[in-house]
Amino acid sequence: MIENKDKKQWIAIENWIYAVIRPNQLLLYNTRTGQYMISQESEHVSIVAKMHEKKNLGVILFEEDWFENQKILSFIEEAVEKNIFTLEDYREDGLKPIRLMPVLNIQKDVERMKRNPDRSAGESSLSYLTELSLYVNDSCPLHCKHCGQLNKQFMCCGRDKDDFSLDAGVLAKIAAQIKYAPIMKLNILGGDIFSYPLLDKIPEIFSDKKEQLHFWSHYKNFQAPNFDAVWEIVVDLPVDEQVLSYCVSESIKQKTQYNYHFIIQNEEEVNLVEKIINKLDIQTFEMHPCYSGENIDFFESCIFLNKEDIFGDTISQRRIFCNQALNSNFFGSLTVFSNGDVAAQVNVPVLGNISTDSLLELITRELEQNTAWRKVRNVPPCNDCLFQYLCPPVSSYEAVFKRENLCALY
Ligand code: SF4
Ligand code: SF4
Repeated sequence: MIENKDKKQWIAIENWIYAVIRPNQLLLYNTRTGQYMISQESEHVSIVAKMHEKKNLGVILFEEDWFENQKILSFIEEAVEKNIFTLEDYREDGLKPIRLMPVLNIQKDVERMKRNPDRSAGESSLSYLTELSLYVNDSCPLHCKHCGQLNKQFMCCGRDKDDFSLDAGVLAKIAAQIKYAPIMKLNILGGDIFSYPLLDKIPEIFSDKKEQLHFWSHYKNFQAPNFDAVWEIVVDLPVDEQVLSYCVSESIKQKTQYNYHFIIQNEEEVNLVEKIINKLDIQTFEMHPCYSGENIDFFESCIFLNKEDIFGDTISQRRIFCNQALNSNFFGSLTVFSNGDVAAQVNVPVLGNISTDSLLELITRELEQNTAWRKVRNVPPCNDCLFQYLCPPVSSYEAVFKRENLCALY
């Protein structure tokens, strides 16, 4: 509580507060409760800037003339109420209180690794690999309208006229290299993977990672498999219900996990998908918005971030630090294409080829070149925005739209 001017007080910013100070604006975000304050008042900006001066260690004296300034008084009152600032009595014989602010300090960070490329840092890189996606072939009998665009936006199959496929030797080489990597998801995609002659051999080749295998198929290409696995079924609209219900009945028979990925382009399709999942009693599904080049309105109204989306859930200090250091959408993930090329994801430059480069070399290259894993919001307009590291990390959609931000704010 703010006392009268005869009583001196300290004012401290709590160390769970994420503060963004720009020349003319300020954000104070409580990472415990999600409460926040935004101000364009220069007096407010300078109070918080002063708290952040090294010598002040988050705590300054409540200045006498602030009692005459209603703008400052109500700012401090609101910050105290939101558990952003605290007031402490000043004691002539007491020590100045301090608040140690957490700072991002990754001891073995990548920039340091680049400056001191020692063997051990390189070798530990394989421990970053948590997701590997293999496009085993690229032929497909179907002709989906947006094929080739879909897998640039979200995980999906994709055909190619070149008709390459990964041979058994390449699969075995990959399996040997990932034996001790902490892979959580090993995606097998095509084309049409049912036309890939080695499909049935994959669980055996990757026997060490059997539990992590996810097989991706368009529902119209799907055939009853003769091995247990997790299936990721791609469904575009309009849906052939008879064919889709075949997949659903197989999943019930096999008792393995089937996840359905519906591709939607507008709100009507969202409603249609809801009807289908209810009718067929589909339990596990995701909807993936597809930018067709003609549905920008749908993206603007339903997909682009607004302030309510950003502040909808409490964002932890850990999440904010993570957003400053790496891209959690892409970090740890590599894609091997059917010609052996390897990239951090479908939209970014190729890092090398699996036939000539080891996964360790490719990961080290990604850590150095940063095509995706450490893409953070550090370029305009995001680097000028108060919400820079509160916003979710850059996704594949930004690349598709050829812009750095997908929000309604800038
Ligand atoms: S099923 Fe997949 S690979 Fe085949 S045409 Fe459709 S999107 Fe392309
Ligand atoms: S400009 Fe960037 S950081 Fe700011 S709200 Fe938009 S996407 Fe988020």
